Amino acid sequence: MIIVLKPDITQKQVDHILDRVRAIGLKPMVSKGVERTIIGVIGDENRLRTEPLSIFPGVEKVLEVTAPYKLVSREFRPANSIIHIGDVSIGGKKIVTMAGPCTLDCRENLFEVARKVKKAGAGVLRGSAFRPSSAPVSVQGLGEEGLVLMREACDKCGLKMITEVMSINDVELVAKYADILQVGARNMQNYNLLSAVGQIKKPVVLQRGLASMVKEWLLAAEYIAAKGNTQIIFCERGIRTFESETQFTLDLSVIPIVKQYSHLPVVVEPSHAVGKWGRVLPMALAAVAAGADGLILEVHAKPEESLSCGPHALLPRNFSKLMRELQKVAQSVGRDV
Ligand code: PEP
Ligand code: MN
Repeated sequence: MIIVLKPDITQKQVDHILDRVRAIGLKPMVSKGVERTIIGVIGDENRLRTEPLSIFPGVEKVLEVTAPYKLVSREFRPANSIIHIGDVSIGGKKIVTMAGPCTLDCRENLFEVARKVKKAGAGVLRGSAFRPSSAPVSVQGLGEEGLVLMREACDKCGLKMITEVMSINDVELVAKYADILQVGARNMQNYNLLSAVGQIKKPVVLQRGLASMVKEWLLAAEYIAAKGNTQIIFCERGIRTFESETQFTLDLSVIPIVKQYSHLPVVVEPSHAVGKWGRVLPMALAAVAAGADGLILEVHAKPEESLSCGPHALLPRNFSKLMRELQKVAQSVGRDV
């Protein structure tokens, strides 16, 4: 249920409604928009049916939300949410690019990539210290040592830091270093992890599961939001289909769909889906043309030495080329890079 408040409502009247909602055992979540403030009510809404909330002073209307996800829905917040991380904003006019290696390896490679992607216009450095390898014999990541290295590279180059968190035991540790936490595709429905990242005060990029429907993805985000963290960014990264020419089928059709249902930003990570570096650029451009708010791209100083994902890693010079091409596409759809 959503309570839409009148523009001239007083704080005392807001507090009165919040107290009432809490008193009947439900959780109110306030969303302050430019024109309107809205209160989302979480819990068993049947308890509200006997409560005449629509006649409380300052209430404009009470709406029932039919979708099972509420806090992440457009009904709850009609305007686009913009997520601010210092001088980087995701969901505004500017397209945000997050670039860097797949698995963190050595200092030299990381710092070279960080310097070069910054110069080419990236706002965020990506890299895995905890890596969700499909095979246990594959590289698993440097752990905290990698987080320390990445933080240093970000601070030195003026980049924000995104890295994956795979376990609830590591959420605090990763949040200590990173500006943005990533929940990977394989963990999209790990509800304990979603609840844990819902309790931190840092943005979370939520990868779409390998075979997840849009509704399941939105509900996964709702798990995070229900714990109080609404700084969520959806990331389309390709889904499993019958096609074997690609690693995954990059489903760009979800961009307008998710934006219709949710107020949250959507970014696209084309690298793993296309699987080959030469195919990354066209799909990155297509994603932005289709309305993506940002891109995540794998870039490595020496792809042939990369511990994972070498075949689709861009060289820094190819990343720079992509950024130049992106400028034209972004401008044509009213965005900046
Ligand atoms: C990654 O970004 O390195 C990654 C493993 O992504 P995904 O969870 O989408 O496979
Ligand atoms: Mn990778």
